[in-house]
Amino acid sequence: GTGLDAAFFTRWLTACAAAVEREAAHLTDLDAAIGDADHGSNLQRGFRAVADTLAKDEPATPGAVLTLAGRQLISTVGGASGPLYGTLLRRTGKALGDAPAVGRAALAEALGQGVAAVAQLGGAKAGDKTMLDALEPAVAGLGQSYADAARAAADAAEATTPLQARKGRASYLGERSIGHQDPGATSAALLIGVLAETAEA
Ligand code: ADP
Ligand code: MG
Ligand code: MG
Repeated sequence: GTGLDAAFFTRWLTACAAAVEREAAHLTDLDAAIGDADHGSNLQRGFRAVADTLAKDEPATPGAVLTLAGRQLISTVGGASGPLYGTLLRRTGKALGDAPAVGRAALAEALGQGVAAVAQLGGAKAGDKTMLDALEPAVAGLGQSYADAARAAADAAEATTPLQARKGRASYLGERSIGHQDPGATSAALLIGVLAETAEA
């Protein structure tokens, strides 16, 4: 195909905002168990700002859409997830440069750079029971297909349940973080699932 253009990325992020609205209570419930019960409301605030901005002003390239959205997340979300997801989108957008459209392999490569930036910013690695647990397998899956990326992220989010958190607020609980699915890994799987739905629509 010709690849994914700016309008595709705007559709994806707008659909992410709708998905976050639907899942906000669930994400906040997960964060109530091992954090401070605000992950859903944090992402609602951030993705509402993203959708509002993209409704007014559609940047011309995929990279510009992602960097604008990332800036919105950083400036509107107070919690840890805002700078982390904001960095993910900004760095992915920067890696895409000014290409007018991108294929799946190029997106996987760029998203890999975005995920690496999240790891650098937060000092976490896969297995620490954070959003990275879902994001790293998503990048690997994206090398195969959008559906593989979505499945890998969802499976990885579920696989955080038996882990002890080593980063973020949940790590303060020590062993008491075991037995609960990580909210950020869950939201990461949601966003990647919406990517696959948008790409297949
Ligand atoms: P806060 O913890 O500041 O209230 P949120 O509740 O919005 O922020 O987000 C919590 C999620 O952020 C966690 O479930 C985890 O997935 C992710 N997270 C926290 N710290 C880190 C980190 N250092 N690296 C990667 N992800 C992290
Ligand atoms: Mg929280
Ligand atoms: Mg908080």
